[in-house]
Amino acid sequence: MIHIAEPDLTGNELTYVIDCINSGWISSRGQYIKRFEDRFAKYCKAKYATSVSNGTVALHLALAAAGIKEGDEVIIPNLTFIATANAVRYCNATPVFVDVDNDDLCIDTKEIKKKITKKTKAIIPVHLYGKPCDMDEINKIARKHNLVVIEDCAEALGAEYKGKKVGCLGDIGCFSFYANKIITTGEGGMCTTNNKKLYEKMVLLKNHGMSEKKRYWHPEVGFNYRLTNTQAAIGLAQMERIDSFIKKRRKIMETYNSLLKNHENIFILKEKKYAKDVCWMYSVLIDKRDDIIDTLKSNDIESRPFFYPITAMPPYFSKEQFVVSEFASRNGINLPSSTLLEESQIKKICEILKNAYRNI
Ligand SMILES: *Cc1c(COP(=O)(O)O)cnc(C)c1O
Repeated sequence: MIHIAEPDLTGNELTYVIDCINSGWISSRGQYIKRFEDRFAKYCKAKYATSVSNGTVALHLALAAAGIKEGDEVIIPNLTFIATANAVRYCNATPVFVDVDNDDLCIDTKEIKKKITKKTKAIIPVHLYGKPCDMDEINKIARKHNLVVIEDCAEALGAEYKGKKVGCLGDIGCFSFYANKIITTGEGGMCTTNNKKLYEKMVLLKNHGMSEKKRYWHPEVGFNYRLTNTQAAIGLAQMERIDSFIKKRRKIMETYNSLLKNHENIFILKEKKYAKDVCWMYSVLIDKRDDIIDTLKSNDIESRPFFYPITAMPPYFSKEQFVVSEFASRNGINLPSSTLLEESQIKKICEILKNAYRNI
């Protein structure tokens, strides 16, 4: 079976985890937490990074620290993983959906303005499938309307916009370290920022709202959103190899692109001029998507359909049309993109995919 994603844990992960076990520091205190956060911040060129227990709570923590509350509206793309919308709801705020761009499936910046009201307080651009959003345009709109910008970087660690890494292109960047993400800690996440106040607020809130100076004194209702030292140990080992992970993923993307180009049933997504994509999961739009998924499966190749538009699902249902999100959702497929993938396997996948059209 060729899997869609696989964690690559062949570096110092085991050594560091054994060190945690031997030292007894397996909960949310210990040296690996700071080492992981520092290394992560340095990599993203962010002033601050604070680790959290997963990517979903990273988004909730960021929104909470930014003061998003009941009655507020938060703009998000309609094509994303459900957690982006759920995090807004956790604050009792209202997600307002915007369609995505035809070329890269990131939020369509031309559509954002139409959705801004007096209640709009924040915008969450999602760097979907490893492709960075047009952050200059988004920041311009945000400045004009005084909005907080929270990047959902869950799928895009290492992606670049105009030569700058995602994560501190807005006010806060949120990352996920779920097993299939660019790096993994099993479950885990990170919030990055250049803003000291937001950083301090996030640290306070993720730690039960407990004062840093006065133990068991809680000036606010907080959460327990901490990462463990053991998870951070895995994360540090993963960050030691981040450059080779990104290089490998870009190579995978280039190999797929060259093998699938100029095919009448296959539409390759563009890498924008300003972008360095990281190919979280290789993504293409294809004809007869569901048949192709079945064909690949019968050849022991795992693939995934794109996300459903958020407004197609019961908690967020809307009759409003989102033409690009709907089209991409129906025709989009993710192909195996693990850093452990070999070139011969990519060739095999593309061969089977293209052959399938001859038989349909
Ligand atoms: C994975 C993901 C999340 C959530 O991360 P978890 O660590 O699984 O909670 C949020 N947003 C996007 C776009 C994701 O892909």
